[in-house]
Amino acid sequence: MTSAAHSPSIVDRLSAPHRGPVPFSVEFFPPRDDEGEMRLWRAVRVFERLGPAFVSMTYGAGGSTRDRTVRITGELAEQTTLLPVAHLTAVNHSIDELRALVGSYADRGITNILALRGDPPGDPLGEWHAHPEGVEYAQELVRLIDELGDFHVGVASFPEGHHRARDLDHDTETLVGKLRAGAEYSITQMFFDVEHYLRLRDRLAAADPEQAAKPLIPGIMPITSLASVRRMVELSNSVIPPSVDARLAAAAGPGDEEDRAAVRAVGIDLATEMAERLIAEGAPCLHFCSLNFAKATSEVLQRLGVDVSAAVPVATPS
Ligand SMILES: Cc1cc2nc3c(=O)[nH]c(=O)nc-3n(C[C@H](O)[C@H](O)[C@H](O)COP(=O)(O)OP(=O)(O)OC[C@H]3O[C@@H](n4cnc5c(N)ncnc54)[C@H](O)[C@@H]3O)c2cc1C
Repeated sequence: MTSAAHSPSIVDRLSAPHRGPVPFSVEFFPPRDDEGEMRLWRAVRVFERLGPAFVSMTYGAGGSTRDRTVRITGELAEQTTLLPVAHLTAVNHSIDELRALVGSYADRGITNILALRGDPPGDPLGEWHAHPEGVEYAQELVRLIDELGDFHVGVASFPEGHHRARDLDHDTETLVGKLRAGAEYSITQMFFDVEHYLRLRDRLAAADPEQAAKPLIPGIMPITSLASVRRMVELSNSVIPPSVDARLAAAAGPGDEEDRAAVRAVGIDLATEMAERLIAEGAPCLHFCSLNFAKATSEVLQRLGVDVSAAVPVATPS
């Protein structure tokens, strides 16, 4: 089915030469409007000069956002030097639709796909219903994509366990199942305590050493707002450790309006400290949730020793 030139795999990219102490990658989300799209492209052009191993584009639940996602991911492949990974979720899609989406990515030269189940639209913590002609679990989506051609598939992993998993062992089994089904690597949910990542790596090694050799890429978010990070963790199964929350809260100050500059400074310190520990522990790559801004991630990279002088300055504050 792949008609386009084949792009390198993420695993190959991670072993290629890179700037700084470890490869890094960047996650974008689909902008909702033209202004958001312009902001995204400003960030894209900055990151392009910093040489990430790959960039990924999340996949939203709504129809118009989905069209925009497919278009912009195609533009990243066609109009930049970046290697895009398209996130693809099973939510509200029949198998035929999923096949068509994979085909439209392939037509644009995108052969790296992150296979996800997705969450129920509206309420991510609500009851999950598979599409009647769709798939139930991400593992089936991994197989489906693999059957369609020469794709390189990645999956999600959860250092603190997925919120629907019975327990951490069940969560590990799910990840092993996705890797055995053909996934070449996983990217973790963002976390704020490196111990969770290390414990997941140990569980994986104990469960299946062969699959554990595949890259387990940690997701890091440089925090720039305490209120938004608290909201984000509420919707996932991750927790802000009390010591981290206390540092951020002290920076935010006592009033209703948080001191954004002070929170941002602490957020960059925290992300840098986590990144340093992850590098020391041998993480294969650092995956930054950029929120479509380049500045905070660039600052962390600079502190890690990446030469960011080639990056054009960004006008936006985050
Ligand atoms: C790096 C990353 C990127 C993401 N990108 C997006 C995105 O772009 N768009 C989006 O909407 N969401 C995204 N998500 C969120 C993700 O879709 C949700 O967390 C979703 O709830 C789980 O997806 P999954 O692919 O891990 O599902 P699955 O691996 O299918 O797991 C879902 C649940 O089912 C359980 N399970 C799996 N297989 C079985 C089985 N055989 N029997 C019984 N139980 C089983 C698992 O333990 C888990 O609790 C992302 C998450 C991460 C970590």
